[in-house]
Amino acid sequence: MAAGAAAPDQDPGAAAPAAPSAPRPAGAGTDPPDSPAGGATDPLVSPATPAEPAARQTIMVVEDEPALLRALRINLRARGYEALTMQAGRPALDQATQRKPDAVILDLGLPDIDGIDLIRELRSVTSAPVIVLSGRTGPGDKIGALDAGADDYVTKPFSMEELLARLRAALRRDAPAPPVQPVAIGRSTIDLAAHLATRDGEQVRLTPTEWRLLEILIRNPGQLVGGRRMLTEVWGPAYQQSTHYLRFHMAGLRRKLEDDPARPQHLLTEPGMGYRFSP
Ligand code: CA
Repeated sequence: MAAGAAAPDQDPGAAAPAAPSAPRPAGAGTDPPDSPAGGATDPLVSPATPAEPAARQTIMVVEDEPALLRALRINLRARGYEALTMQAGRPALDQATQRKPDAVILDLGLPDIDGIDLIRELRSVTSAPVIVLSGRTGPGDKIGALDAGADDYVTKPFSMEELLARLRAALRRDAPAPPVQPVAIGRSTIDLAAHLATRDGEQVRLTPTEWRLLEILIRNPGQLVGGRRMLTEVWGPAYQQSTHYLRFHMAGLRRKLEDDPARPQHLLTEPGMGYRFSP
């Protein structure tokens, strides 16, 4: 799939870009606190629910539209996040290096740097999940952003609740997974912690993709894992329909690991739904 050439930004908010303000190193923390109570009449502000965990994760928001930046800051703080707000790309890169945010919410249309280039540069300094906000709606723009290293993509205008749900999902995916004991697949043994697969005591070479698929299944023993979820976690959200990738790599895993690949006992297909690791 070819990434489309970056089209000119069509954000409504980019028509009259705010003068890029001076970078505010750590400045976000010294702003007067925004009150979520003021949001009752503001459609961009959705009320926090008591069930939200009191996370103190730092979320960097890069957005040149002041009203939207403010709404994002209010909502993130109301959820207990630290909001590090930036109005341009260059200062955001500096701050990403220094403050190590847990996630980045990034507008593609910024005054000083192309959003796709910014994603690539961010990827060289942080592995934190990046959620793109954009007024660009072409599939090429979306694929371009995901290929550059974004984890998710939300098109403007967007629902604040949906953005926050996607943020929580991205943070969950990024959380370090607990260790898992070695498991047996017939005469094969898989040790995720040691990143070692053996069969009758001999090492079995698995590709990085096979490892990632196997890890998702082994970490969910006995459970049906949806094909879309596997595609999203291994290849990214743009590949949710690419079920032939899954069939190909799961067949490879069975050939290498199952005692009888034609009659798998552990790496099971649930037709039309997904896969299951049966211990
Ligand atoms: Ca913009």
